[in-house]
Amino acid sequence: MAREGLTAFEAVNVYFGEAAQLINLDDEMHAVLTSTYREISGQIPVRLDSGELLVVRGYRVQHNGARGPYKGGVRYHPAADLEEVRALASLMTWKTALLDVPFGGAKGGIEVDPTGMSQGELQRMTRRFTAAISHVIGVYRDIPAPDMNTNAQTMAWMMDTFGARAGHSPACVTGKPVALGGAPGREQATGRGVIYVLEAYAREHGLAMSELRLVVQGFGNVGSWAALEAESLGCRIIAASDRFGGVYHEPGLDVSKLVDAVRTGGSVIEVTGYDAISNEELLEVDCDVLIPAALDEVVHSNNADRVRAGVIVEAANYPITPLGDKILGDRGIVVIPDILANAGGVTGSYFEWTQNIQQFTWKESRFNEELRDKMQVAYAHTSAMAADKGCTMRQAAFAIGIQRVAEAARLRGYI
Ligand code: NAD
Repeated sequence: MAREGLTAFEAVNVYFGEAAQLINLDDEMHAVLTSTYREISGQIPVRLDSGELLVVRGYRVQHNGARGPYKGGVRYHPAADLEEVRALASLMTWKTALLDVPFGGAKGGIEVDPTGMSQGELQRMTRRFTAAISHVIGVYRDIPAPDMNTNAQTMAWMMDTFGARAGHSPACVTGKPVALGGAPGREQATGRGVIYVLEAYAREHGLAMSELRLVVQGFGNVGSWAALEAESLGCRIIAASDRFGGVYHEPGLDVSKLVDAVRTGGSVIEVTGYDAISNEELLEVDCDVLIPAALDEVVHSNNADRVRAGVIVEAANYPITPLGDKILGDRGIVVIPDILANAGGVTGSYFEWTQNIQQFTWKESRFNEELRDKMQVAYAHTSAMAADKGCTMRQAAFAIGIQRVAEAARLRGYI
């Protein structure tokens, strides 16, 4: 989507530009880091169960690999065009560097609405897409993972298709089912990581988690696990939504009821006893913490002045446009940026990848402990940089990531 006259990639590069200025990045490195290394755009024909042929477009964009193999999710969504995939790939570069995991940044996407597609159709589409990108992915090249509308099953099909060519290679994708080498804890890692970062913020500001009233937009993998983790730490979830709409209840929603509804194929709106609320209204609910965990660009210049949260924790990627971000900043609303807040996913993927390579499985308790530690260390670095430079958390997080990538690119002699 292009809001406010900028494509998603141009918008992310606005954030890049602000941080690059803070650290006086030179023009040559600026030019390298604001463009992508390699882009695959391929035709994906899918035979539907009806016998008809659907022809869609799939992408894999590798943004930067200075610090390690490319890493990033695969999204199935009608808005997943090349510009969006570029933007998301570049965010992965800054995210992996900020968390100090040894990966570069990539993203994949198929421009398709998968809702209503059968498992057979999804499997055929996933296998065709994997075959189309199989020459650029691999254990030490580029490692896909789940993202919007993809899941552990999608990764199992990708692993199987890639393995037919390269031999059994569980580490070629992460976010797999545990039965195929997935790491216990990886499925929950992005949502839990969001809350580990919120915990660090609360501790730094002398807030008790039990005092916080949260609103969560999106109740898929990330939103639902974030809500469950927050509830377990005593937070009150007062509103939540998915693509069908939302529910609001000031005394607090029963998160497990919402999870049951969603995981059995339904929606949060089917849970009775709560007020109905639209996705637009939900963003404007009076709360302590707003967690957008669904789509890109949901907070923008036309609604940022109506947001009533004290803090926004960006569980989704690129949920706030640059103009929206400026309005929030001027109003004193703190934003914990995506490349920090949702980095639990790629950090958990790193744990899964290392376990696959070592053929050794950690207990989930160890996974969670290491995840919390890495997330809270990254939070502390970002917060310290923001205080030192007198800048926003987003500018600080980008600046740390850019510095690390630029240093690796220079040491390699890339430019
Ligand atoms: P998902 O497909 O599991 O869930 C998406 C959720 O968003 C669903 O509840 C869906 O109903 C809802 N949604 C869709 N359209 C909506 C709309 N118009 N309004 C409100 N809600 C809507 O996806 P996910 O994996 O949870 O990803 C969500 C976000 O988190 C994405 O931005 C993704 O890039 C980001 N993210 C995911 C991971 C991961 O590990 N899955 C890691 C990092 C970041």
